[in-house]
Amino acid sequence: STETNHPAPATPAASPAPAEGSHAESLSRTAIASALGVAPEDIASFSLVKRSVDARKKSNVHFNATYAVRLAQGVVYDALSPARGVNVRAYDPPAPLTIPDLRSLATSSDGRIVVAGTGPAGLFCALFLAEAGLRPLVVERGAAVDERTAAIESFDAGGPLDAAANVQFGEGGAGTFSDGKLTTGTKSPHIRHVLEAFVQAGAPDEILWQAKPHIGTDKLPAVVKSIRERIISAGGEVRFLTRLADIELSGGAVCSAVLEDSRTGAREAVKASRVIVACGHSARDVFELARDRGFALERKPFSMGVRIEHPQTLINRAQYGAAAKHTALGAADYKMAVRVPARANGIRTDATSENATRGVYTFCMCPGGEVVAAASEEGGVVVNGMSRFARDGENSNSALLADVRPDDLPGDDVMEGVRLQREVERAAFELACRNGGAPYAAPAQTVGDFLAGATSSSGQPEGRQPSDTVAAASEARCRTVVPGSHRRVGAPESHSRLVVRPSYPRGVVWCDLRECLPEFICDALAQGLPLLDAKLHGFADPGAVLTGPETRSSSPIRMVRGQNFQARLASDLPDSDEEPATRVYPCGEGAGYAGGIMSAAVDGLRVAEAIAAEFSSR
Ligand code: FAD
Repeated sequence: STETNHPAPATPAASPAPAEGSHAESLSRTAIASALGVAPEDIASFSLVKRSVDARKKSNVHFNATYAVRLAQGVVYDALSPARGVNVRAYDPPAPLTIPDLRSLATSSDGRIVVAGTGPAGLFCALFLAEAGLRPLVVERGAAVDERTAAIESFDAGGPLDAAANVQFGEGGAGTFSDGKLTTGTKSPHIRHVLEAFVQAGAPDEILWQAKPHIGTDKLPAVVKSIRERIISAGGEVRFLTRLADIELSGGAVCSAVLEDSRTGAREAVKASRVIVACGHSARDVFELARDRGFALERKPFSMGVRIEHPQTLINRAQYGAAAKHTALGAADYKMAVRVPARANGIRTDATSENATRGVYTFCMCPGGEVVAAASEEGGVVVNGMSRFARDGENSNSALLADVRPDDLPGDDVMEGVRLQREVERAAFELACRNGGAPYAAPAQTVGDFLAGATSSSGQPEGRQPSDTVAAASEARCRTVVPGSHRRVGAPESHSRLVVRPSYPRGVVWCDLRECLPEFICDALAQGLPLLDAKLHGFADPGAVLTGPETRSSSPIRMVRGQNFQARLASDLPDSDEEPATRVYPCGEGAGYAGGIMSAAVDGLRVAEAIAAEFSSR
């Protein structure tokens, strides 16, 4: 625990203490006092700053908690003698984000500040700009969240894909129908601000102190709607079903944004002083638009693979041992990475093995969650994952991905990564249909079958044939499995007693995933699975289910920007010291500057701060 006699912050930097006089309050107070070596009455107040589960030793699974403590008057810090294993330090409450008042500097003759996209990047950028008095115009190609929810429910139930309302597009962006994990590898002073804004918008308070906070797909729609309402009440305007279709430049700087009605195709040019491009990584038309308008784009590494599903009880047992049933622990998660020899060199025929290894890792793990149908283009299958706040579903799922490096791809075209994603998504759609699935059913395979296939095709022990059990299982492939149905396919009885009911809503078809994913990805996943199993026992159980393809975990393209956050033009000299002056701001994950909800939101704030600084320096 960390305790301090520093004054408690004025803003709610930590969760409130349990209700005064309650049993929980008394227990916590006694524990903190004992940890600090003071009497309970020496503590004036305390609040929980952070809590995490420590399960490194299965025989001693426990919580680690950090409290901010204010000591009663007269109790001297130096006199403290904390118990063993207790850390005490002065507490510096995070500084609140300052939003300047720029109302007097915003003139309507300049044109609008247009924010394209209402994912976390666009929403947080627009909220800052609106609260600074700059009245942004926010355009979102997709539907408002209620209409979007209905469209997704209809698609999941077998209806047609709505190109303007799906898991990728619509109010709240890609993460609205997600687990809403708010963990991030990045460090930023803005993280606290984002968490507090989510809580103000209706997210559970506990995200302020959980070490691995998450909101849940059942709560996210109301949260994003509330942020939208805050933007509007601060003077912003929000238009749904309105696509940023073009950016017009004059003298190298934006002069107007061409907006298109997503349903009718009607277009309108809006005079714009600035355009923030926060369109996410699935807006492939925006990459094309940026390239055609002369902006500098570059390839960036991304990843590709499948979702892996296990019973949540298996993960709980593997992570928590005998403590797995303790109700205070909730559903366990995991995050793992390994490197494997890069035996297959991407899809370039001329590839030289410059990179001897390839990363294989789990990503966006959703405890107690479901696999999501995340397509945004007709004729393509894409999977992802989500969970509700309670994380109380039968399965866990996680992306299982391998790196795709720029030099894995042929030629020089910057769009090559998008081309590969699309090819794989279409191949998956056709593979499932060819094998008897309905449109948008997803190809799936058990880990047992997948690894047996890898073994028999990768030149390992000569002459080894797929086992009889695998051959028997293959008879059962090629039939759609209704989500949640209990029929067991492909997991040889002799290998495993694991039963996993695939949760992908449009049904899975048992196939060979090698028929839709590139060889180098499958090769890496097959090598990675046993290594990951060594870290988390049961991960590569033959009965675990792989559903694919997961192609949209990150952006294959970066829209190059300067230190001032403005987009560079391809015609700019590459070694030029001059900052770009396009007044176009690539922002968030699609532009290549974030990966996940938190980092996208933080990037939105950084772009907004840069714009505010331009106004302030006028
Ligand atoms: P996006 O969220 O993609 O938002 C872009 C927005 O721009 C979209 O609303 C889109 O409709 C709109 N748009 C696109 N083109 C245009 C245009 N031309 N004009 C106007 N609007 C346009 N991350 C996590 O950190 N935790 C998780 O638990 C998590 N789970 C996920 C689960 C799923 C199912 C998915 C799909 C993603 C998940 N992610 C998760 C990833 C996370 O959602 C993204 O990293 C994040 O949303 C990126 O934010 P963004 O604002 O940059 O882009």
